[in-house]
Amino acid sequence: MRITFHGAAGEVTGSQHLVENQQHKILLDCGLFQGRREEAYRKNRHPTYDAAELEAVVLSHAHVDHSGKLPRLARLGFQGPVFATPITSDLCGPMLRDSAHVQQKDVEFANKIRGRKRQPLFNVLYGFEETEEILRRFESRDLHAPFDVAPGIRATFIEAGHVLGSAQVVLDLMERGRRFRLGFSGDLGRMHLPILKDPESLTDLDALIIESTYGNREHDPISESGPELCEVIRSTYAKGGKLIIPAFALERTQELLFMLARLKLSGDLPADMPVYVDSPLAIRCTEVFVQHPEAYDEETRALIEKGVNPFDFPGLHMVHSVEESMALNTAGRPMIIIAASGMMEAGRVLHHLHNSIEDPRTTILIVSYQAEHTLGRRIAERAPEVNIFGEPHKLRARVKILNTFSGHAGRSDLIAYARTVWKNSPRLKKVFVVHGEESQARPFMESLISWHGFECIYPRLGQTVEL
Ligand SMILES: [Zn+2]
Ligand SMILES: [Zn+2]
Repeated sequence: MRITFHGAAGEVTGSQHLVENQQHKILLDCGLFQGRREEAYRKNRHPTYDAAELEAVVLSHAHVDHSGKLPRLARLGFQGPVFATPITSDLCGPMLRDSAHVQQKDVEFANKIRGRKRQPLFNVLYGFEETEEILRRFESRDLHAPFDVAPGIRATFIEAGHVLGSAQVVLDLMERGRRFRLGFSGDLGRMHLPILKDPESLTDLDALIIESTYGNREHDPISESGPELCEVIRSTYAKGGKLIIPAFALERTQELLFMLARLKLSGDLPADMPVYVDSPLAIRCTEVFVQHPEAYDEETRALIEKGVNPFDFPGLHMVHSVEESMALNTAGRPMIIIAASGMMEAGRVLHHLHNSIEDPRTTILIVSYQAEHTLGRRIAERAPEVNIFGEPHKLRARVKILNTFSGHAGRSDLIAYARTVWKNSPRLKKVFVVHGEESQARPFMESLISWHGFECIYPRLGQTVEL
C-alpha cells in the first residue's frame, strides 16, 4: 500500500493524493492548482499520474482547489465514478460549470497576449462537454456510511464542518490480509461556524493526512462577527451609503446571509436597507443550501423556527440579470450588496466598485483573505488610488476588514483536532502535513512532534510513501 502526493504538497492548492494497494489506484480529491498562470496551467494540464488507470475518485468537498480538475480527468480517459456526499455532488454542478467558464475566459485572455508575442497558444484545460461528462459520473454517499471504492479499498465520509457538504475521508485499505486505516482531514472547518455542523474526529487511524493552511496563525473569534457587522451596517446606513461585501460564492455568501438574518431578527438591520446577492454562482450555491436543511446546525434551525429564514427574509433579493445588477448602480439609497469574486478580480463586484469606490458614503467590507497582486489586496491595504477596468479610481470609500469569518481551522484548532484524533487512535504514528505553505506547515509539525513524537512528513510534490 502506498500514497503519492500529486498536489497540495508544499502548497495550498491542487489537492490530489493517489492511494493504491496491490492492484488498484484511487484518487483522493482532484483539485486545480491556482496561482501564477503559466505554472498552474502546466501542472493542471499534465497530471503526474495516468488518469485512465484510476479506478475512482473520492472527493472531500466542492471547492475548486479540490474538485476543479475533475473535468480534465474526463478528457484524459478516466472512466470511473466520483464519490462525494449528496450536497457536494449538488454543489459541483454550478461550481464546475463556472470553472469551465473561467478556464475558457482565462485561456482567451492569455492567448491574446501570447499571440502578440508570437508564443505558442494554450489549449483550454477543459470545456463544457467534459464538465457534463464528469458530472454524470458522480455517485452520492451519505456521511458515516462506509462504501466500496475498489477491491480492498473502503471509504467513509465524516463531517468536516468547512463548507456545506464537506467531508473528511477515512480509507480502510486491505492488501494480502494486512489492514491499514488512513484518515484525510480534507479542509478542516472551525467550531461554531454559521450554518455548519462542527467538524468530527476520526478514530482508529494508522496514519493521518492533515491540512495546514493556518498551521501557524489564529483567527479572530467568530463571536465578534455579529457586533462588527452591526457597527458597519449602522454607520453606512447613517451616511446613506452602500455597503459592498465582496464574497466567495460558496459558503461565505451564505454565512453572511445567516448573520444578516440574525440582525434582522434583533432589529439591527434597518427595514429600508435591502440586501442584494449579486452573483449568479452564489445564487445557485444558495439554492443548494435551501434544498439541504438537514445539514444545518442547531443555531440555524433555531433561527428558522423563530420565523427568520437566512435564505429568504424580507428585504433579501437575488439579482439574476445584468440589467437588475446595473440598476443598483443608480439607486442612491442605503443597501447591502454581496457580490463575487471574493478577491475583487472578476465578477459583478467590479461594477459596483467602479461606481461607488469614490463615494465616501460607501463602505467596502472585506471578509476573506486577499492574495497578493489582487485588486482586493490593494483595497485592503488602502492604496489611495486603484485601477478598475483599466481606469484609475480614488479610494474614498471606507474600508473595513473582518478577520473573523475564515472557514479553516486555525493553529490551536488544528492542534486540538490532532490531539483528539491521536487519543482515539492508539496505532497512529504517521502524520502527513499537506495544504499549507512551508511557513504554516513547519511550525505546526514542530508542535505535533513536541507533544507526541509523531513521524511527521511534509511531502514534496510527487513524493511516494509506503504505508
Ligand atoms: Zn475548501
Ligand atoms: Zn482547500
